[in-house]
Amino acid sequence: MLKKTVSQLQPYVPETPLPELEEKLGLAKVVRLSANENPFGTSPKVQQALQNWDFSNSRYYPDGDASALRQAVAEYINVAPERLLFGNGLDEVIELVSRTFLENTDEVLELGPTFSEYKLHAQIEAAVVRDVSVQTDGIADLTALAAAITPQTKLIWLCNPNNPTGTAVTCAAIAEFMAQVPENVLVLIDEAYMDFVDDLTTYTALPLLTQYANLMVLRTFSKAYGLANFRVGYAVMPPKLAPSLQSVRLPYNLGAVAQLAAKTALADQDFLQTTVTRVQKARQQWEEFLQQNGFTFYRSQANFTFFKAPQALALADDLLHHGFIVRTGLRPDWLRITFGTAEQNAKLQQLILAFYQQ
Ligand SMILES: *Cc1c(COP(=O)(O)O)cnc(C)c1O
Repeated sequence: MLKKTVSQLQPYVPETPLPELEEKLGLAKVVRLSANENPFGTSPKVQQALQNWDFSNSRYYPDGDASALRQAVAEYINVAPERLLFGNGLDEVIELVSRTFLENTDEVLELGPTFSEYKLHAQIEAAVVRDVSVQTDGIADLTALAAAITPQTKLIWLCNPNNPTGTAVTCAAIAEFMAQVPENVLVLIDEAYMDFVDDLTTYTALPLLTQYANLMVLRTFSKAYGLANFRVGYAVMPPKLAPSLQSVRLPYNLGAVAQLAAKTALADQDFLQTTVTRVQKARQQWEEFLQQNGFTFYRSQANFTFFKAPQALALADDLLHHGFIVRTGLRPDWLRITFGTAEQNAKLQQLILAFYQQ
């Protein structure tokens, strides 16, 4: 009865709700540093806007074009509004892209390890996924990626900065890569963490959108804007592909409250900048800590670090019982930790050292 590609799938294990976990562990507070959420919260202006939202709108379907949000994002990144595609989280955009382009025997390329959703949705559409490994320093090997393209290749996912390695490639390197990609292959740059890089103009692929009709850039409000609960992500589409992608999208995929939250968050660039500055400071401090204590780690441009931690599972369990959730299971004996507040980072680092000194 099941579609063949679905019969072997296991459900994604989502994060356990914090109150449930706190009760189970008997802890007053558990800090989640496993999902790259914003430890500094959300712009207070969003809370205000939501309180002022006219509840009598509840019975109406939301604006299916997300017009106000569309206009605001279009101005923010300087693209034509009709090139934007909004999703219920970037997750939905990834699903939608896979659903629109992939069919049996198509091939998808990605640089592993990377975000698991690209592979999941390609597999559901019966496409073949090929992983090209990152270099030993964690940096994307774009030469190897270009060399892996075959006549069957349809989509290429490039997460920049990459989750879970945290490393980033420059826009110049991506331009060089694009020059080697045939026009009938679509390249998707997932910029979920782009807000956190040291220098935006060095890394973002947005300027290449005017040059390449086979390039899409994807962003989300879940990370730097602290809006993960509202599920808003978007992509900048090639103009020719826009109508087809819009046809596949569900007509009312974004609720009015989510649209309002995202638009208000985007308008509060002071909050964003404060978050980014704090994350950049934490990143520098974490890398000094890892360096000084002899850990192997990748150079991050994101809001998390990926490092080699001997006995990673035992360490993660120890941290959990001290009230910190970190991400395991991405690579044996490596952990991914989202940067927390300065106080959380100090406590966590102290616990890590204590674990190895036992
Ligand atoms: C978190 C994340 C997303 C998904 O973001 P949502 O908008 O919350 O669905 C997409 N891509 C990467 C690489 C991520 O880490």
